[in-house]
Amino acid sequence: MKIKAAVLNAMGIEPPYAQSKPLSIETVELDPPGHGEVLVKIAASGLCHSDLSVINGDRPRPTPMVLGHEAAGIVEELGPGVEDLKKGDHVVLIFVPSCGHCLPCAEGRPALCEPGAAANTAGTLLSGARRLHRDGSPLHHHLGCSAFAEYATVSRNSLIKIDPELPLDEAALFGCAVLTGVGAVLNTARVTPGSTAAVVGLGGVGLSSVLGAVLAGARQVVAVDLFADKLELAKKLGATHAFNASSPDCVEQVRAATNGGVEFAFELAGSVKAMELAYKITRRGGTTVTAGLPPPAHTIPIPQVNLVAEERTVKGSYIGTCVPMRDLPRYVALYRQGRLPVDRLMTGRLQLADINAAFDRLREGKAVRQVVVF
Ligand code: ZN
Ligand code: ZN
Repeated sequence: MKIKAAVLNAMGIEPPYAQSKPLSIETVELDPPGHGEVLVKIAASGLCHSDLSVINGDRPRPTPMVLGHEAAGIVEELGPGVEDLKKGDHVVLIFVPSCGHCLPCAEGRPALCEPGAAANTAGTLLSGARRLHRDGSPLHHHLGCSAFAEYATVSRNSLIKIDPELPLDEAALFGCAVLTGVGAVLNTARVTPGSTAAVVGLGGVGLSSVLGAVLAGARQVVAVDLFADKLELAKKLGATHAFNASSPDCVEQVRAATNGGVEFAFELAGSVKAMELAYKITRRGGTTVTAGLPPPAHTIPIPQVNLVAEERTVKGSYIGTCVPMRDLPRYVALYRQGRLPVDRLMTGRLQLADINAAFDRLREGKAVRQVVVF
């Protein structure tokens, strides 16, 4: 079938994107679902910093590629072998398809699925297929989703069925921002009631971590960012303290406010500077979690002796160490109870044609979560 999609033809095109238009809105060909695959009519697709990192080349991926990995939609057609979904089901797309059979999957860590990671790196679906074409040549899939498009053919294992009462534009945020941000707090770090936490980098994922830390009952939730309006929003969402990272004594301010640092610090900006800051504001015996995605060549200098003498822990977190089939329905239920107000991260709804300008807003720190609605 013919669909409209946002195609990234080359990485590293200079901003402003409203003029340079790295994403071109084109009519492309989408194949019907193969064995174990599903055709989804995309209802909403969020703009995430990891899409931006592919556009600017920080996170290299094969091109041409149809971007978009944080989405929700409605099942349109089932491929052979898919028997546990039906046409009309509401689904959230998950950006690592888990095979269910590899060692990480068997260990209950589907975010680390090996065939899933290999398919994502290659720009294919889990089956190895590319279902998108333009003028007879294949286009790559982004993280098994390619959801900046009217329809997507995806692996069954890239989908979680959700409560149809949930508005689909809000549901989209659960696929990346909420699973990653809340999961980092609840699963990776296991923040405990009465503990202290800090979040460095307040995009959609970071603010989700703030919500997660509030939900977990941390007695102090410290928000750190470069933008005053994001710090304000974090406070409205329940952060007890907010500090601007541009201040030269930001580290001292946080340490003074938290009696020597926090037990759990989260780096969600995807930068070495943010990670250094997160590490410095972690107290002795504490845990620093990084879930941001810096360019592959960047390394962090950490005094090794600290890890020993202060019993520090540094942990990575991918998709919030989530088991999406377990965690996504939990987070949706908490949202519906008003305990995880992720709708407050939504800063705009837009048409696919306006996507380049919207990435400028994300790049300039002027937006948290913007969602393309179809
Ligand atoms: Zn994302
Ligand atoms: Zn697997």
